[in-house]
Amino acid sequence: MRIVGLTGGIASGKSTTSSHFKSRGIPVVDADIVARNVLKKGTGGWKKVVATFGEDILQANGQVDRAKLGQIVFSDPAKRQLLNRLLARYISTGLFMEVLKLWMKGCKIIVLDVPLLFESKMDKWTKPIIVVWVDPETQLHRLMTRDGSTEEEAKNRISSQMSLDIKKTKADIVIDNTGTLEALNEQFEMILIQITKPLAWTEYALSRQGAILGLFSIFAGVILCKTVL
Ligand code: ADP
Repeated sequence: MRIVGLTGGIASGKSTTSSHFKSRGIPVVDADIVARNVLKKGTGGWKKVVATFGEDILQANGQVDRAKLGQIVFSDPAKRQLLNRLLARYISTGLFMEVLKLWMKGCKIIVLDVPLLFESKMDKWTKPIIVVWVDPETQLHRLMTRDGSTEEEAKNRISSQMSLDIKKTKADIVIDNTGTLEALNEQFEMILIQITKPLAWTEYALSRQGAILGLFSIFAGVILCKTVL
């Protein structure tokens, strides 16, 4: 199985890129969706977060007020790290389960869309790693437009993350999304060719088909040994 890592910074264009993958039939595991699920009322993650940050972060219906929690953690690095630490185990388990479901379906190439791929050290499970890069002014402008945030809020959010230039140095493939959507699309088409090339044998061995073949070979080997001996 080939697990392609997709990452970048806030508003760099990860979701736009991942929707291209989905529209071309490549399954995407979205860490933001998993992170939302691990905060659902009554789950282990929800209990930890409420115990740590108090009931003030809850809405009237008991669900976590994500905007409120976001405001708390994005202006305070220590609280942000604490939240990441509290949820890391639940998020990685959630991601693992999603990958397992796709593995059981027999998918050979999947994309793992994880904003904190490097920070959570999940990059070691993905190859190749695609970083969606954008220049700082464009990033700020797109973030403010998308979220309706002030310049100060947007700058806080951007500076709370690992710099996009550092992420770029860790990438196998860089998408420069400073240009138009057409320019993004052109880069995407090239990348699609690259990531859909035939699996290496190590990737094949990790696919469901490879595992079945492996088990079959072991089984056949045992039978053969018993017959010969
Ligand atoms: P991320 O998922 O990395 O936070 P998004 O994919 O949501 O970023 O992109 C941020 C915003 O920028 C969205 O409103 C999106 O529609 C817009 N956007 C993304 N790429 C481009 C582009 N090449 N040109 C213009 N707008 C873009």
